[in-house]
Amino acid sequence: MQKKIIMALSNVDNEKNFIKCYDLDKNDYETKYKGKLTCFKGCVAKIKFTERKNNIKFFSTWNKEGALHDEGCPYHVDYQGKIGRKKLIAYYEGIELDDETIFQRLQYKMDSLLRQYSEKDILDPQKGSSLVSDIGKNSIPVCIEDDNSEKRTGIIKIRHEDAEYISIDDIGCRKSIYGFIKNVQLEEDIHKKKFAYFNLNTKYSNVNIAFPEAFYSNEYSHGVDEFESFILKVKKMVEQNNKLRVIAFGDIIKKKMDSKGVNISIISPKRILVDNKDYWQILSNNI
Ligand SMILES: [Zn+2]
Repeated sequence: MQKKIIMALSNVDNEKNFIKCYDLDKNDYETKYKGKLTCFKGCVAKIKFTERKNNIKFFSTWNKEGALHDEGCPYHVDYQGKIGRKKLIAYYEGIELDDETIFQRLQYKMDSLLRQYSEKDILDPQKGSSLVSDIGKNSIPVCIEDDNSEKRTGIIKIRHEDAEYISIDDIGCRKSIYGFIKNVQLEEDIHKKKFAYFNLNTKYSNVNIAFPEAFYSNEYSHGVDEFESFILKVKKMVEQNNKLRVIAFGDIIKKKMDSKGVNISIISPKRILVDNKDYWQILSNNI
């Protein structure tokens, strides 16, 4: 399944602008934008616009150009057929990255995000392609056991994606998601088990970072009271700062009672950073 594209970068009369599929119609596209759209990262691959009768609008990559997206781009498709999307999911699922490695990768990515945004508060369309993350640092050497149980060494990339571009198409994937926290909810299920979620600031899909019981029932956690304290501290931080950045790594699952929403399920304190602080730094924070 090809990934839905909501935002594109247009280059008309040498002027670059971000444009959303919802703001286009067939006539605009045919007369003005055709052949002049790329993905929001500014890869070489061309983007086309489709409008269906029932007012469904979307962008997609021109035929056979999927490989022209940079390797770090969410729309990159490898036509060599080495790893298709389904296989890729299975591949990621099959490999258990250790928490320490995940933690390190999240820190690298958070650092690079903070660097990008401190250079310029607003995206400069001319520098669209500089948004591509430094892929080298996201590569992790790991040991993979193949079908013959023979160990071989491979390189695993953690996928980092902007929450803005996450949708139900991503259900079943495991990756790192970054964005801004809109609000924090601490709740209790029918069995009196505490759980929580961070609702992220996104325009198109409802994206939550969810904390199931597994998050506080493992070697890194001192139990539910500590968990509650962590959640309430983040809640306060969000109330004081409406641009609180979060990055977290987990499985993307369907959100109950919300056909357009997804949860990213976080099962360890080592798999999340809020405002560039880890779980323990937040706990020791005097807020
Ligand atoms: Zn691209």
